[in-house]
Amino acid sequence: VRVLLLNGPIPYTNAITHIPLELAYIARLLIRESFIVKGLDFSVLSQNCHEQAHAEIREFQPEVVFTTFSRVLFDSTRCLSYCLPLLDHLRRCFPTTHICAIGEHATFRTQEILDRYCSVDSVIRFAPELAARALCRSLTDNQPIEDIPGVVTKRNPWRIEDPSWHSIPDNLDVLSIPERKAFPVDQYLRKDSETIVEGSRGCVHRCLFCQRSRYHRKVVERGIDLILKDVAECHGLGFNSVFFTDLDFCRDTERAIRLCNAMISERIGVTWTCNIRADITEKDSPVDVLRAMKAAGCYRVFVGLESPNPGVLSNIRKRISPDNGMRLKRALDSVGLKLHASFLVGTPKDNFQTLEHTFEYAKALGADMTSINALVPLPGTEYGDSPIKWGIDLVNGDTQWYERTEYLNKAVSGNANLSPDEIDVWLRSAHVRLLGG
Ligand code: SF4
Repeated sequence: VRVLLLNGPIPYTNAITHIPLELAYIARLLIRESFIVKGLDFSVLSQNCHEQAHAEIREFQPEVVFTTFSRVLFDSTRCLSYCLPLLDHLRRCFPTTHICAIGEHATFRTQEILDRYCSVDSVIRFAPELAARALCRSLTDNQPIEDIPGVVTKRNPWRIEDPSWHSIPDNLDVLSIPERKAFPVDQYLRKDSETIVEGSRGCVHRCLFCQRSRYHRKVVERGIDLILKDVAECHGLGFNSVFFTDLDFCRDTERAIRLCNAMISERIGVTWTCNIRADITEKDSPVDVLRAMKAAGCYRVFVGLESPNPGVLSNIRKRISPDNGMRLKRALDSVGLKLHASFLVGTPKDNFQTLEHTFEYAKALGADMTSINALVPLPGTEYGDSPIKWGIDLVNGDTQWYERTEYLNKAVSGNANLSPDEIDVWLRSAHVRLLGG
């Protein structure tokens, strides 16, 4: 059986694009069982290579397609509209091919996808890898697929409401190592010499805007040996830097230190970066783990500080204090690690004063990199699923804003104090002022 692993096109030419890990894990599991696998990621191809990619699909004649829609980094919602025409085209070319949607958007809008997008035959909710392998086995044997945990079709829609209906592994080691070579590694390398590696999935926190903590549902880890092997494979493919996608690399500081020590003794040969939470400063001896990270090759950490306003932080359930950011910056400086600080504007309690407070705080913090982004009320989050309850005004009241191209690069929500347009204008001015020092 020939299986196509597909990430759709995106409208940005300079977006960060990494090998889609879920599809690459599926590739590894399927190749082991002698399925014929081809990965295609339109997001990394330049526009003038798209025709060639279409020709490759025609030649490959896929019998099964798994698609993450059009994923940019970890967001499979925002550019959805760019993948739908491609799926319709596939459906016309291959009427009997089974097309299965995976990823965050498919998980949290399953019913909508099965009702509205007739090119999609099934959805895998939550972790897709094991269910995708089971689905390929069943399709090969002409067996029904509706009993596979995680798989939803028009024939078992009641499963959407079943919280136990998933195939999330208890240990990521069962997924082995992503088969990155199923994708055109050279194309990614041409854009960026850094790639992504997972050490764990999941987060114990539940910030109201965060889709990924809901998607992963629980914390699941990979063994340190496998992480090192994975990093070594990336190095062997030509990547000289790695971004650990763990939602909080320092959730378990002892494990983080063990991993760092293993990286040092194995001489992994790459630099790396990761996400951590600002409240690491409240743990025992935070500097010990930060020092170990630096010694192991970490060059920078990404931290979501979101806002310095206690009312905003409490409202979004971030569970950090405004002091955490400043204390973290001092701790990072003391060990020589850089900080990428990220802020969020347009949350329900924001107004012009809190936005300006965020700007002043960001400037005073003096991080090495600063991002200020507008809230995106993503499916699966409280803000995306119950916007009215939380005081979120969707742009033009459009609950399916992600199906339209006109909202790309724009704020898609506001609140009682700020319209999406006002947030956009403020953001543009804040970016100019930040750059201007
Ligand atoms: S701490 Fe980070 S990963 Fe965890 S829920 Fe909050 S935003 Fe998401």
